[in-house]
Amino acid sequence: MEIRLLQATAQASLAATVARSYYVLPMAARPESLLPRPAPRRPARLGLAVLTTLIDKIVSGELPAQSMLPTEPALCEAFGVSRTVIRESLKVLEEKGLVRVKQGQGTTVAAPEQWNLLDPLVLEAAIRHDERLNILDDLIEVRVGLECQMTRQAAAKMTDAQIAELHDALVALEDLLDDPVEYLRADTEYHDMILRASGNQLGRSIIRSIHPHARGSARYDGAISVKSLLASHRGHVAIYERLAARDADGAAAAMQSHISKSWHDRKPPAPE
Ligand SMILES: [Zn+2]
Repeated sequence: MEIRLLQATAQASLAATVARSYYVLPMAARPESLLPRPAPRRPARLGLAVLTTLIDKIVSGELPAQSMLPTEPALCEAFGVSRTVIRESLKVLEEKGLVRVKQGQGTTVAAPEQWNLLDPLVLEAAIRHDERLNILDDLIEVRVGLECQMTRQAAAKMTDAQIAELHDALVALEDLLDDPVEYLRADTEYHDMILRASGNQLGRSIIRSIHPHARGSARYDGAISVKSLLASHRGHVAIYERLAARDADGAAAAMQSHISKSWHDRKPPAPE
């Protein structure tokens, strides 16, 4: 099957379209009547507000490891909520590995090694405050390890129908080269088709639980340039070709090169 790839004419108009589509937010087109109305300040919402604020203060380092959290009455006063809301929030923070509650000794902030980074709220905050990109580098390593192995499994298992389906997804991706926002969405789906075909449900769940929190953050998506999008697409083509040839080693190598190189190309510079 032939993939029509990267005609020079398409490249010429791509730069302008990339710049334009950056500023189009999907929400902007929604009629006002469809926007959600502000919900009443119910306890659950208050609890979430307390929780996300404390997670942010801990993960950002504003409340450093081993430091004591303010007392329950002080937290009640600071947030203007009941003791029940504060206690519930502290319990959830403890479940996420962010604090240790010791009877009679108060609550201390736990060391980062104890944090549960698979928890969506913790991971989201960690990525937001990941100025040195350590978490994102780790996330790329996890993706490389798991996705390469799963691509290898997929090469051995994919049916002709699944290969044909992947080809259709690749053609659809190519049609989105002038729409980076949509391309990134379809990119995630393209990878997911391969993960699904591998039959490794646990691996797929791990990737699906960590990747959406990275995708969408400016640090992870980086600066999308015409050049980086085209390079990424070439990677998708190479993965497809190796899978279609049932070349397990080649498909795994193509996946490794694609994930590592795409990150290298779009990774923002870390501060000095
Ligand atoms: Zn990709």
